[in-house]
Amino acid sequence: MPVHRYYRSGVEIVRYADMCMKDQNYECAYTLYMKFITLFVDKITKHPQYNSVSAKDKDTNRYTLRIVFSKAEELKKQLLQQYQADLDKYLEDLKEKERIEKERLKQEELQKQKEEEERKNKVATIAAIKALKATIGSNMVLPEESKTKLLPVVPPVKPVISPSSDNDKTCTYKDTKIPTIDRSTKPSLLMSDGSSLRDVILSNKLMRDFLTLASSNTMNNKETCGILAGKLERNKLLVTHLLIPEQTSTPDSCTTHNEEDIFDYQDQHNLITLGWIHTHPTQTAFLSSVDLHTHCAYQLLMAEAIAIVCAPKYDETGFFILTLDYGLDFIANCRETGFHPHPTEPPLYMKAKHCKLDAMAPIELVDLRRK
Ligand SMILES: [Zn+2]
Ligand SMILES: [Zn+2]
Repeated sequence: MPVHRYYRSGVEIVRYADMCMKDQNYECAYTLYMKFITLFVDKITKHPQYNSVSAKDKDTNRYTLRIVFSKAEELKKQLLQQYQADLDKYLEDLKEKERIEKERLKQEELQKQKEEEERKNKVATIAAIKALKATIGSNMVLPEESKTKLLPVVPPVKPVISPSSDNDKTCTYKDTKIPTIDRSTKPSLLMSDGSSLRDVILSNKLMRDFLTLASSNTMNNKETCGILAGKLERNKLLVTHLLIPEQTSTPDSCTTHNEEDIFDYQDQHNLITLGWIHTHPTQTAFLSSVDLHTHCAYQLLMAEAIAIVCAPKYDETGFFILTLDYGLDFIANCRETGFHPHPTEPPLYMKAKHCKLDAMAPIELVDLRRK
């Protein structure tokens, strides 16, 4: 990628991180600040075009780096404190559980002793009665009622578990005592079905407006493309703006120009990029090899970024992302350009299940094309 793109991405990373801070998602913010630091302290100087970066851009970047450094430092302290507090609480809970368990075992042991004593007492009573019967004579019959009362005690149905015994039940008990941690609840970007992704919310109106705006291109068998921009709020990514950049297109491609206009607009309105949308005037809704490469750049910067394909001829709309466990890496490492074949298995992209339509969501269409 040309070096200025990295500087542009840097601005976006910091903006996104600041939004995460505001949304109190400190882990996300910290990860992004560290990404920024790694990129501009470590990597960028090795870029072959590094010397062509203007002094002004370098100065701005250095200034941002200083701010990001102190923010990351502060966040790190805060996160470590939070993790320590979480751990302390966990250990305390564990201790409490152990105490309750010990108490339960003690009670069980006492109960067992009590039952054992009762059993012995009854056995002794029976023996005494037998002895009495023998003394009085074998012709004496005990009343029916007392007979049932004096039957030998049946051992309790529920097996009593002693902490010192080595039987299987004890083992089972020991196993269940070990606290289990449900790792499936831990957010991870590697969950292949995309269930770890935050929701991207957008209005149905977005597709309608876009198709209306694209209709003359579509009639002339030309693609149209747009950028989805928005914000992070309460852990949801909201697409609030559809930006239409200056562009030239063919039946199966669309190239944007004057991207600075888009950047300026996003800077002024504090918008992060959440994906892109384009038409397939004559084909169905799918991602071509060129689309996959275009989308890769979006998704590397924002894991949730979506690609929407509108196929008016087939009345189809596709919401896609590269598969997190395979496609993203594969395309990022594919060095081919233009239309080229990719292996189809395992799948490189899939339906974006984290993309939710909301008829009430507001959307603003901004046409930045210079007519
Ligand atoms: Zn396409
Ligand atoms: Zn490729």
